[in-house]
Amino acid sequence: MACYEWRIMNILVINAGSSSIKYQLMDIEDVHHCALLASGLVEKIGEPSGRAIHKTFVGDQERKFTEERHFSEHREGMSRVVTLLTDKKMGVIHDAAEIHGVGHRVLSCGEVYRDTVLVTPQVKDTIREFFPLGPLHNPANLLGIEVSQEFFPHAPQVAVFDTAFHQTMPPKAFLYAVPYEWYTKYRLRRYGFHGTSHKFIAQETAEFLGRPLAETSLISIHLGNGCSMAAVRNGQCVDTSMGVTPLEGLMMGTRSGDIDPAALEYIMGQTGMDIHQMVDALNKQSGLKGVCGVNDMREVVESAAAGQPQAETALEMFVYRIQKYIGAYMAVLPRLDAVVFTAGIGQNSAPVRARICQDLVHLGLCLDDAKNAVPANEPRAIQKAGAPIQILVLPTNEELQIALETKQIITGR
Ligand code: AMP
Repeated sequence: MACYEWRIMNILVINAGSSSIKYQLMDIEDVHHCALLASGLVEKIGEPSGRAIHKTFVGDQERKFTEERHFSEHREGMSRVVTLLTDKKMGVIHDAAEIHGVGHRVLSCGEVYRDTVLVTPQVKDTIREFFPLGPLHNPANLLGIEVSQEFFPHAPQVAVFDTAFHQTMPPKAFLYAVPYEWYTKYRLRRYGFHGTSHKFIAQETAEFLGRPLAETSLISIHLGNGCSMAAVRNGQCVDTSMGVTPLEGLMMGTRSGDIDPAALEYIMGQTGMDIHQMVDALNKQSGLKGVCGVNDMREVVESAAAGQPQAETALEMFVYRIQKYIGAYMAVLPRLDAVVFTAGIGQNSAPVRARICQDLVHLGLCLDDAKNAVPANEPRAIQKAGAPIQILVLPTNEELQIALETKQIITGR
């Protein structure tokens, strides 16, 4: 692998979905010295009317460009990303060759890689091998890599797996209590997701507390569109709430989280739904949306405050499931330094954090209501003075983590 001499590198982070390409271009030295140059999204690829949104950040100036047009396929979308990044007016670089490396978010590599890797033909084969376990994401992620290899042939491509951080879980945490052959033959096990976020949060927690990561234990609570939790013991993940797919665990915006599998057979019998319709309903029509009709937590909180009973029930269910997981993860962690809230809901919703903590004083979660109520984008502690466990609110930054790991792979450091 080539070792480059640049201290500062332009890293393009790509998150390719089935009909979208999200990107960020960062000029990066380390976690404290990085500049976001541009970010954007090409969406509704393959649909009659698509859209590109491109933002640039130069000095204090933020500029936004939006266009509505048809993008027939990912190649055309990526071509637009390149022209926007290098455009005389809207661009931030002169030439695609100024991109020194590309980091790709990839859903799953099963048990094959425990860490971020340089993309090789073998890595692409592994991503392909896991299409059946990540049918919505892995094919799109691989397409993103292949298109990016065409447009940035000079730049090393790096794959950052959403499952990798969870590979330290012991078998007692990752195995399901089903015939063992399902694991050995079909690779059925808990993989966990949001790994890039939980890893970033573990590192940020250690830094915030001024402890080495290897001596930091935390419960990381990622509450966004998707929701998951991770128990992190001495810097390593020992358990997480999502499973073989991102459907298991917490109640989410539109996903059910944990449910008795036999319930599916019953409802399929009652409604005539087939298994694909059922899984689709559990992914897209359940969670907050299923219980109260809306999946945006801001609306749920407002409706609950206005006395809408189903919104109140949905909120109580959402909070209760998190409380149960906090209890479970406290039981498996011999020592706990911090409970950490992150992502859209975790960072921004003081009422949700308050509800989660209010019944857990006996477990050492003593929230300071005044500190919790202050809106801020900065990392902060919101527990009462002298409380045994820190309660932190830390912004996650998966793209930055991907860029940092991409730079580490490229420079060999
Ligand atoms: P993410 O996936 O991390 O971007 O989180 C997106 C979700 O965060 C949205 O669906 C909203 O429900 C939620 N969210 C964002 N801001 C707030 C807020 N101020 N209060 C409650 N929820 C919020």
